[in-house]
Amino acid sequence: MNFSTKSIHTGEKPDFREGASGDVIASLHLSTTFARKEVDTPTAGFEYSRSANPTRKTLEQKLAAIEKAEFGLAFASGLAAETGVLMALLKTGDHVVATDDLYGGTQRLFRKVFATNYGIDFSFADTSKPADIKNAITENTKLIWVESPTNPLLKLSDIAKIATIAKQNGIIVVVDNTFMSPFFQNPLELGADIVLHSTSKYINGHSDSIGGAVMLNDKSLFEKIQFIQNSAGAILSPFDSYIVLRGIKTLSMRMEKHAENAYAIAEFLERHPKVKKVIYPGLKSNPQHELAKKQMSGFGGMITVELKGDLTGTEKFIKNLHYFSLAESLGGVESLIELPALMTHASVPRKDRIKLGITDTLIRISVGVEDAGDLINDMEAALSVV
Ligand SMILES: *Cc1c(COP(=O)(O)O)cnc(C)c1O
Repeated sequence: MNFSTKSIHTGEKPDFREGASGDVIASLHLSTTFARKEVDTPTAGFEYSRSANPTRKTLEQKLAAIEKAEFGLAFASGLAAETGVLMALLKTGDHVVATDDLYGGTQRLFRKVFATNYGIDFSFADTSKPADIKNAITENTKLIWVESPTNPLLKLSDIAKIATIAKQNGIIVVVDNTFMSPFFQNPLELGADIVLHSTSKYINGHSDSIGGAVMLNDKSLFEKIQFIQNSAGAILSPFDSYIVLRGIKTLSMRMEKHAENAYAIAEFLERHPKVKKVIYPGLKSNPQHELAKKQMSGFGGMITVELKGDLTGTEKFIKNLHYFSLAESLGGVESLIELPALMTHASVPRKDRIKLGITDTLIRISVGVEDAGDLINDMEAALSVV
């Protein structure tokens, strides 16, 4: 099966058993517990919904299928999925090498929970440079944790190269694939061991469910993470599982449209005299365009733009847009825009922020699936008042 067929059919087929009604979609199973006919035989393997639930199981099968993985696990949020992986695989004294501009919530989890309370060591490296990773590895390194592209600067790391370095050193590679979705990038095929998603973004895609996913091929790693999923209990609810199942059915169409719209907007902005710089891996001018073509099958729906001028002008531009809501998060059908300097990265001191490239006029856009012409006209009008 190819992607769009899997996204619709995996785990869901009409139920024609005796007394069943032939529903064409997976049912929403809200039951917390499952009765058995015989004392020693759980019905269809289900006992208690934290351990396994039929709706969540269908979603977990579908998540695995779309990421070309053997196993999938659904958690209550992206950060709950990350916590599950860290708890399953690390103990005090272990060391992790992570991308230096990881998602802010991930950095907080690493620095303020796992480093501070549990004695795990983290090194933050520029994972776009394999030499920086090699330098950061110690004899205690258990994981390399990569985000590609990063947020908001859309920096790419060569996942296949990182996997090779990791294998030589017996280290597990985790890739947060949230920004690309399984439609445009499959890190397991590039040699990564574990893929992680915030399903709150593209996978669900409708900005109405917080959730997380882990996909992998190794059975023993899967069993360790599944043990934590049940023991710590941060599972995705049956209702959210149902919502995400529904979202996945249109993932391929949405991603194609996100990417098509993002490319059109990136090209428009690149030509605009009030724009200083456009970062989009799909543009030929992007310094990592060749790597993007090598490891991704499309370039996604995220664009980062730096305007000429100052913070006041940038705020004015954002306030004059009609179809781009000023909000954090990304990956939904509606277009969103945010100003990292005042929003997602406000806690980073200005000097450090600017050194990283997150200037006062840098804007992050999550391009939705509206009509590209309407979106471009909206931007053109808002730029004209700056
Ligand atoms: C949103 C996000 C997360 C965290 O996911 P939640 O579902 O909000 O917990 C992790 N990584 C990336 C790249 C994200 O965008």
